[in-house]
Amino acid sequence: MIDNKELKLQDPEVYAAIAAENKRQCDNIELIASENFVSNAVREANGSVMTNKYAEGYPGKRYYGGCVNVDVAETIAIERAKKLFDCAWANVQPHSGTQANIEVYKALLSNGDRILGMSLDAGGHLSHGYRLSESGMDYESFFYGVDEKTGLIDYDRVLDIARIVKPKLIIAGASAYPRFIDFKKFREIADEVGALLMVDMAHIAGLVAGGAHPSPLPYADVVTTTTHKTLRGPRGGLILSNNKELGKKIDRAVFPRCQGGPLENTIAAKAVAFGEDLKPEFKTYAAQIVANAKALADELAKAGLPIVTDGTDNHLMLVNVKDTFDVTGLQAQLLLESVNITCNKNSIPGDKEKPAYTSGIRLGTPAMTTRGFKEEEFRLVGRLIATVLKNPEDTALHAKVKEEVHNLTEKFPLPYEKD
Ligand code: PLP
Repeated sequence: MIDNKELKLQDPEVYAAIAAENKRQCDNIELIASENFVSNAVREANGSVMTNKYAEGYPGKRYYGGCVNVDVAETIAIERAKKLFDCAWANVQPHSGTQANIEVYKALLSNGDRILGMSLDAGGHLSHGYRLSESGMDYESFFYGVDEKTGLIDYDRVLDIARIVKPKLIIAGASAYPRFIDFKKFREIADEVGALLMVDMAHIAGLVAGGAHPSPLPYADVVTTTTHKTLRGPRGGLILSNNKELGKKIDRAVFPRCQGGPLENTIAAKAVAFGEDLKPEFKTYAAQIVANAKALADELAKAGLPIVTDGTDNHLMLVNVKDTFDVTGLQAQLLLESVNITCNKNSIPGDKEKPAYTSGIRLGTPAMTTRGFKEEEFRLVGRLIATVLKNPEDTALHAKVKEEVHNLTEKFPLPYEKD
């Protein structure tokens, strides 16, 4: 339950913004692949008194007194993260996924070293070497992409590039790739060229935790993730490894090199989320995310929309909206937003449109699966999306779709009270 009585009295302006955001989340079908809804327990820990505490250092080795209780919460978070991903070492302090990636680079690389990651337009992330990110400024970054026809990573091509570039670090992982990533192949490529392998599993971490996607941990030197996507925790980052010596180096890169006092309230919330992720119900949730994504992709394909790679293995899909309905990704995003369906425009392989417009949209199922949607609801959502995109000018039809969206969001409420 959202109880913001004090806030309402003291600061009506901020209260109003938060209340409006709560209503927006309740009333919309959330299909942004990187978003989710945390439980009330996670939200309570995140909003707890642990925000008041300074705790530079690590449990048992702090630079401040009074850390006895935050030490308990942070130790629980570390131990649960290790259990969840079956690994030897974890650092739960990174403030975000980007921060986690930068901290790994600082620990493993020197300025000017070569890194090889997936390009942004093929589905990689800014922090994998993009020129405007710290990762592209401090290191000499090179990229692999996907095959323009199939939309798939061509591992032979990655190996060819790696042989030429000879990177110190190879980065696997993506923000918009709908198929399983073959981590064993990436390990072989890294070994072949003498590189370290980092896997950024930010998008799929919850699927890995729930047994719905192969784990990178047996293969990667280090694994990074966000905690707020499929893992369904608070916004934040997490670094994992089976190599404790590497872990020690990364600990020093996180603090004191890149961060100061850890957000112990967020770390407590991570602990709660990892506790939820360890429960058997989370396995059911992870499997349902994938089943729902397959159902949605299938329904959109039936409506004539090409799906990049012809489907999905995970929680997301890339839909080509331009070829069938002659709308850009941006137009599709805005049209869908007008009927309370939230998603984002996304480039598709070989996209002719500029990145500000794109030919595609990215759709994901984690958030609405949390609200209880199953295949039947996602099939209906697929039909609603196709109806809107097929009839971009028909506002009367849009009003009907919005009504159907309303019926669905009412039937599957969030665990939070609607103000
Ligand atoms: N890595 C990947 C693969 C991502 O998709 C994202 C965010 O979408 C991040 C890292 C960055 O996470 P954050 O926004 O917490 O910095």
